[in-house]
Amino acid sequence: MSLYRDDGIVLRTHKLGEADRIVTVLTRRTGKIRGVAKGVRRTTSRFGARLEPFTHVDLQLHTGRTLDVITQAETVRPYGEALVTDYPRYTAGSAMLETADRLIMGEKEPALRQFLLLVGGLRTLGSAEHEPRLVLDAYFLRSLAVAGYAPALESCARCRAPAVRAFAIVAGGTVCGGCRPAGAAVPAGETLALMVALLRGDWLTADASESRHRAECSGLVAAYLQWHLEHGIRSLRHVERELAK
Ligand SMILES: [Zn+2]
Repeated sequence: MSLYRDDGIVLRTHKLGEADRIVTVLTRRTGKIRGVAKGVRRTTSRFGARLEPFTHVDLQLHTGRTLDVITQAETVRPYGEALVTDYPRYTAGSAMLETADRLIMGEKEPALRQFLLLVGGLRTLGSAEHEPRLVLDAYFLRSLAVAGYAPALESCARCRAPAVRAFAIVAGGTVCGGCRPAGAAVPAGETLALMVALLRGDWLTADASESRHRAECSGLVAAYLQWHLEHGIRSLRHVERELAK
């Protein structure tokens, strides 16, 4: 049996048998892993509530034939604590965890930049410095970019012309008048500027944006993300419901 240690963010858990759980974790060095936490659903479990989504945990595992077994778990930082009492932040955080899980398809393939983005996103969300939907859209744009799907925002996705007129998901972002496919959205210039600011981490510009441009940005980013993931991100529906209030 081979032992290893790593730290990571718990993305999700599901029940296994009577008392166990399978825990999916995005780790710093190993990438996405799935491990069995034995007896975790018993009240006497030595893992307690450490293996819950949002928690940054330090783990010791041993390699199993099909699934690795978690033998130790220590909390590094419980990011969920700052989110559970704030529904918009909680749903934004859930959408981040789900997106990380979906964008990182392979297990045990190192994904350090995705790990660091997720930790940074959860920390920013919990600090309540910026509007949760801006934090979520910044996370979506950057995690898509790390996965190789950065949208074109400042030149035409098809011919690289600098003058852009529309945003076309199927073309890969902004397009010029000549390359614009039928039905492409024509967002405000400020909306595209907001997307650039979020991708770059320019919070001064992002925080100063108007709510109508934020709403337009969120719509485009969500559509772009969903197109790339092929299936909808379930948690996004809750975010949208919250925004509509
Ligand atoms: Zn073009």
